[in-house]
Amino acid sequence: MGRGSSRSLGPPKTSTRRDLPGGTAPRSHPVIERFIRDVPDFPKPGILFKDITPLLQSPEGLKASIDGLSSLVAPASYDVICGIESRGFIFGTALAHALGKGFIPIRKPGKLPSKTAAESYELEYGTDTIEVHTDAVSPGERVLMVDDLLATGGTMEAGLKLIRKIGGDPVACVFVIELLFLNGRARLDAPSHSLLKVD
Ligand code: AMP
Repeated sequence: MGRGSSRSLGPPKTSTRRDLPGGTAPRSHPVIERFIRDVPDFPKPGILFKDITPLLQSPEGLKASIDGLSSLVAPASYDVICGIESRGFIFGTALAHALGKGFIPIRKPGKLPSKTAAESYELEYGTDTIEVHTDAVSPGERVLMVDDLLATGGTMEAGLKLIRKIGGDPVACVFVIELLFLNGRARLDAPSHSLLKVD
């Protein structure tokens, strides 16, 4: 499987740490791992950016991502899929299409044309805000939350609050990649799952 062979972070994986609290998927996904490109010091020094473009570019990688995400949470347990701008749109809409579900975009401020609800969250320096249309869900509608990557969890935490604010019921969050060392899942009060967990 080549585990750890192309990583720039962390010790080699052991078979004893496959699952994490709240996450039922295995730690590693050999196909996805193969197509994630690590870009050091992007967008600023000290950040190891997980570039998903090789994954999207590869028919095998894209299929493995969407098939993998669809296997993390039973599709019958949610009605609609919500993705967070912008990489959450890519995986979220493809997943929605594959499963015959609809898609709700959570966007950066000022992008949605109709009436919106907003939620702000802390960044390292300053704050960020995300928005959703207030009529994006019907009352109690069950929503699967999707983003490409879980880091500190601030973005998805705000996404969960936003969906609840407009009357939706977020049943779970799914990610292609999770940066374990930031423990972002501790901030998420919905079951969270990821396909590739990185130390
Ligand atoms: P966070 O709110 O800290 O969980 O950050 C999650 C969001 O930031 C996701 O939408 C990711 O696309 C992006 N992100 C954060 N860290 C990285 C990283 N190291 N590589 C790629 N994307 C990242």
